[in-house]
Amino acid sequence: MKALVLTEYNHLSVQDLPKPTIKPNEVLVRVQAVGICGSDVHGMDGSSGRRIPPIVMGHEASGIIAEVGDDVRGWSVGDRVTFDSTVYALDDWYSRRGMYNLSDGREVVGVSTPDFKRQGAFAEFVAIPHHILYAIPDNVSFTQAALVEPVAVALHALSLTPIQVNDSAAVVGAGMIGLFIIQALKLAGCGTIIAIDLDDDRLALARKLGATHTINAGASDRKSPDVAKQVQSLTHGRGADVSFEVVGAGPTVKTAIDCVRKGATVTLVGNLAPSVEIPLQAVVTRQLRLQGSCAINGEYEAALALISSGRINVEAILSAEVPLEEGADWFKRLYEKEKGLIKVVLKP
Ligand SMILES: [Zn+2]
Repeated sequence: MKALVLTEYNHLSVQDLPKPTIKPNEVLVRVQAVGICGSDVHGMDGSSGRRIPPIVMGHEASGIIAEVGDDVRGWSVGDRVTFDSTVYALDDWYSRRGMYNLSDGREVVGVSTPDFKRQGAFAEFVAIPHHILYAIPDNVSFTQAALVEPVAVALHALSLTPIQVNDSAAVVGAGMIGLFIIQALKLAGCGTIIAIDLDDDRLALARKLGATHTINAGASDRKSPDVAKQVQSLTHGRGADVSFEVVGAGPTVKTAIDCVRKGATVTLVGNLAPSVEIPLQAVVTRQLRLQGSCAINGEYEAALALISSGRINVEAILSAEVPLEEGADWFKRLYEKEKGLIKVVLKP
């Protein structure tokens, strides 16, 4: 089968690999669409340590079941499916307590670390355990279904965050996940949704998708006050009730902390820098709750339903749909942060 392989750091090439052989609890999925994730782009150069070559990356995918393992029940050849990016153990302590995203020994499709390697979906076929499959509603396309994973990541972040009707929320980072969080905040009844980014085009898109206000953090100077002050001016002088950090870097974590009111929750979704500095005294004396949000814990069905009913717009985030063969080129364009590019979907 054709596969886009990370043969060494910063080098992708289309190779002919043997079709995966499935285990009794797995199905073979003929991939129809697979999104390039930011974590793939950042993983490509070795900086994250989570894409050790050689590896077929790709965990945001959809396709058609081509083979069914002997122990699989309830799924048939021809079924249209998408799947969780996390492969978790069912008999794990965390899974049994409803936190499968935290399960010990969890693996991620298309990721390789010193502990595990699992081939991903930048290929014609991928082997997937049946307990992480989800049926795609008839009116949802394969391309839309390939974007379910990031929508579910956004829904998971919301599920951890206390939000009441008419609350104010600040979203630091208007990339793909940030834009899905903004749409979900609107659905959750937030009255004030403030998108903060450095890119005016992304901020314009944020407004189109539900942000009530936008702040370009790069524009702060003597004339326009700093971001925290601007957020305060939009929230009765207090700061936002909740904030989401969707970049994963020191300055944006600080912004997410600076722009909330006392007693607020700051949900950290971005995951780029291994460590950042936090303003300890502000967190303690303002009694802030900082919490991480990891991946997805059961939000797939909701994400598929919201896409199916049109309440979450995934097309707005889609920049290009291209053949798998062009993957290396599009990876490069994403790596170089080409302006206007958000989500690229490959079609094997
Ligand atoms: Zn992803």
